[in-house]
Amino acid sequence: MSPVSPLVQRLVRPEIQALHAYHVPDSRGFIKLDAMENPYPLPQGLRDEIATLVSAAPINLYPDPSPAALKRKIAELLSLPEGMEVLLGNGSDELIQLLALAVNQPGATLLAVEPSFVMYRMIATFIGMRYVGVPLRDDFSLDLSATLEAIRREQPALVFLAYPNNPTGNLFSADEVHQIIVASPGLVVVDEAYYAFASDSFVPHLARYPNLLVMRTFSKLGMAGLRLGFLAGSSDWLQQLDKLRLPYNVGVLPQLVAGKLLEHHEVLLAQAAQIKFDRVKLFDRLSRIAGVQVYASEANFLLFRIENATAVFNGLKQRGILIKNLNGGHPMLTDCLRVTVGAPDENDRFIAALQEIVA
Ligand code: PMP
Repeated sequence: MSPVSPLVQRLVRPEIQALHAYHVPDSRGFIKLDAMENPYPLPQGLRDEIATLVSAAPINLYPDPSPAALKRKIAELLSLPEGMEVLLGNGSDELIQLLALAVNQPGATLLAVEPSFVMYRMIATFIGMRYVGVPLRDDFSLDLSATLEAIRREQPALVFLAYPNNPTGNLFSADEVHQIIVASPGLVVVDEAYYAFASDSFVPHLARYPNLLVMRTFSKLGMAGLRLGFLAGSSDWLQQLDKLRLPYNVGVLPQLVAGKLLEHHEVLLAQAAQIKFDRVKLFDRLSRIAGVQVYASEANFLLFRIENATAVFNGLKQRGILIKNLNGGHPMLTDCLRVTVGAPDENDRFIAALQEIVA
């Protein structure tokens, strides 16, 4: 890294200077199992339809700032309870930022459990918001009494719970999440990024709690490249958040392509079903490798612990397979690696390489 000039050093907030940029490794040429992407291409017929749509797209014009038809389609697919609406984001990362910006009054706190999605903490830092992390139990389940106690003590304006959690993959106890929502004086956002692979959702409970919003993304369902996420909840909340949204946050092409893909939602759901099926197989094969401890997952990835994880990670990389090294990121993730469930041949290559490394 080049030394920081005195001008930059004087003007940029110290907490930003202390940050490391969110690291995205160069994945060219690798079997890419690091970022929970859907490995499957779309059927040719659908690709052709998209090509026709895109060729006629009015990219000389700004996008529809609030695409009603796309939002209606999402609400319909979700069976959103009466009176609930959706707000679209440029990925759900953008929505995390909007939420934090909206409630960041002086002294306001953002609370999340740990380890969880790193963006909750990072965005709090970006905007100068106080952050409190509550450790999960050793098995990565919620520590309910510690979480309720932290909520009582800290009175957080905003709580994020990833359901299923990333990077651990497990689905927290629904009953405990309900208790957290009830006990929270502030807004609770249940982040369902991995909903397509999970057995439960808080969408049906939206009307029951005035302090609940559900956030989802289409990234894991085969649209990571489009950058489209959404918040579902009452218009009371969404109208306020909408004021903070930068105009035209979702481009013409993502709107068009996502609209078309959601007309063919069953194609994406069938891919997700295949991934869930392969997750069970991968879990089984991983857990049979000596020295590997795999954690139960309701997402499209598996977290596992293995001695000398960083050496294993590098060994996989040398063999052309890129996964995520979590060793050193959080004390509870020592010697942990995370692998996305890929296509069957990718999973085979990963297992074969891992077996070779530990042999
Ligand atoms: N929430 C969770 C729990 C995630 O794991 C991710 C992606 N890794 C996101 C949100 C962000 O997804 P995106 O910005 O692609 O919508």
